[in-house]
Amino acid sequence: ARGLADLPPVQADSLLALIALCDADPRPEKIDVGVGVFRDAVGNTPILKVMKEAERRLVDTQRSKSYLGSSGDKRFAELIRPILLGNEHAHDERIAGLQTPGGCGALRLGFELIATVNPQARVFVGTPTWPNHPPIIKAVGLPIVEYGYYDRQSRHVLFDEMMASLNTAEAGDVVLLHGCCHNPTGADLTHEQWREVTHLVAARGLLPLVDIAYQGFGRGLDDDAHGLRGILAACDEVIVAQSCDKNFSVYRDRVGSLFVKTGTVETTKTAMGHVFQRAREMWSMPPDHGAAAVHIILEDPQLRADWLVELAAMRDRINAVRQRIASADPRLAFIGGQYGMFSMLPISREQVLTLREDGAIYMADSGRFNVVGIADSDIDRFIEAVVEVMD
Ligand code: PMP
Repeated sequence: ARGLADLPPVQADSLLALIALCDADPRPEKIDVGVGVFRDAVGNTPILKVMKEAERRLVDTQRSKSYLGSSGDKRFAELIRPILLGNEHAHDERIAGLQTPGGCGALRLGFELIATVNPQARVFVGTPTWPNHPPIIKAVGLPIVEYGYYDRQSRHVLFDEMMASLNTAEAGDVVLLHGCCHNPTGADLTHEQWREVTHLVAARGLLPLVDIAYQGFGRGLDDDAHGLRGILAACDEVIVAQSCDKNFSVYRDRVGSLFVKTGTVETTKTAMGHVFQRAREMWSMPPDHGAAAVHIILEDPQLRADWLVELAAMRDRINAVRQRIASADPRLAFIGGQYGMFSMLPISREQVLTLREDGAIYMADSGRFNVVGIADSDIDRFIEAVVEVMD
């Protein structure tokens, strides 16, 4: 008989291992650009002022912590709906949503739903992608088909390769798309490319699953959802995994939602029945606190307006740092045309290690770095060190 002692060791998560390495480095000038959270000009990840206020109100007014049910805070999902779907789709009753434990929970639940209806569906995933995508897909047992999405050396989206790969997909196969602020490359599709992908997905009867974890961090809430809304306009069946963890800066509170669109109100109701059942099997119901605070912010006109200002400040810092790095050297110019917190430097693993050893600069082996991982006072040193190791 096998016991727990027979378990083989698991390969350590490389990003978590990187955090530990950086923590252990005694050099005071060290720079951590491996981490995946927003940092302000002095290197902190503060709680938004509106969030502090909403949490105070929550503590003052909450009268019960009784169960809410598998859909979590229903009003939260109603309030997220127009922000995510836009006015053009917010009233479409064929789209239903529920609160989930972060974007991760939404992704898992979305793939569970797909595996429930079509365990043979292949999931087309562009590489590189967020390292947690493949494990989530594998966990539900769906096969993955990879295609090259981005070339680090040429700094371009491999759009022809993407289209060629998606052209081999069959009706019912799934296409995982990053809604905006591609992680780990920062390289988003242009509007024209979204149009072409959307046309292909609709024409071939593929099922798009749009993962949108950084809405508002790129060009603005509406622009960042442009691709998603085009997909919704063209396709009868769409799954959307959304996260508030970045744009409300509540990472550990785990706030997200899943939206499902099918061809009719009736089939959406049935699909949501399965969604609730899968959610009950996994987490029964999502944690309340973060979503309840987001709910308070979005319900109150003043807090909502204040949130938009704080969100814009995060976005402006991301884009300002991008421009500063991009203008420092022609080889870094590509960073200015990308969106979100991440970019991938066209450098080798050895060069990444040189930066770590000689410069105390910690980034993923892939060359992915968080543009707002750097405090303002460190940006020049960061740029100098990177330019020095580049070919
Ligand atoms: N999708 C992508 C592309 C992400 O980068 C992340 C977070 N790193 C998520 C989903 C999940 O976010 P959450 O913390 O809300 O689970």
